[in-house]
Amino acid sequence: MQLNIIHLYPDLLNLYGDTGNIKCLQKRAEDRGITVNTYNFSDSENDIDLSDGDLFFMGGGSDKSQQIVYEDFLKYKKTFQELIEQNKVVFAVCGGYQLLGEKYIDKFGNQLPGLNILDYTSKSSTGKRLIGNIIIKTSLDITPKTIVGFENHGGRTYSNHDCLGDVIKGFGNNDTDKKEGLVYKNFIGTYLHGPVLPKNPHLADYLILKALQNKYSIDSLEKLDDSIEMKAHEKIIKLYG
Ligand code: GLN
Repeated sequence: MQLNIIHLYPDLLNLYGDTGNIKCLQKRAEDRGITVNTYNFSDSENDIDLSDGDLFFMGGGSDKSQQIVYEDFLKYKKTFQELIEQNKVVFAVCGGYQLLGEKYIDKFGNQLPGLNILDYTSKSSTGKRLIGNIIIKTSLDITPKTIVGFENHGGRTYSNHDCLGDVIKGFGNNDTDKKEGLVYKNFIGTYLHGPVLPKNPHLADYLILKALQNKYSIDSLEKLDDSIEMKAHEKIIKLYG
């Protein structure tokens, strides 16, 4: 089996170790004998066809980086929107998550357009940033149901879509509704950095499985020994949960 991962704008969107998510996906797939091809896609590196991707990752970035990416990625918007509709797997963290929504209002009140791929908006406030460890309980079909991470964002996201999970500790999408992230088909947006996948191998496997199921008829992935990763996961819950 082959898994094609496309890392979107790694040079511009990579905060708090987000690239570790790519390493985690690669390793967990390769340990199962899956051939992984990882491609970087950016404003200076865009000679790959997005439709060859099975799993797309977009990390977080500053408001300024988001704006640069917006201007470049706008020309791929329609293609990317179609890929999401075709159930391709997209995992977008923080700045990447905000960017795929309708708009982002920065802390000075400037309205920066989003790619408008999905209908949600983000708004930064002049007040405090939402920073700290975060634990959520997800409704995704994964075990355990907890997802742990770290968040640091000024923007607050408001949406009517299904969320990735209910906040047990931390903030998540905003500082009022206790919801975190967004799920639409195989698109997942989240505020969890960390990087989030090494601490949540069950979420990494969910993404790998969904991506492979678009090409191969498989029901599950071979089990790996996650005892060390899950110890880290449980430790975080014990410390902050
Ligand atoms: N610029 C965004 C914010 O501060 C995203 C930051 C991030 O990706 N961590 O809200």
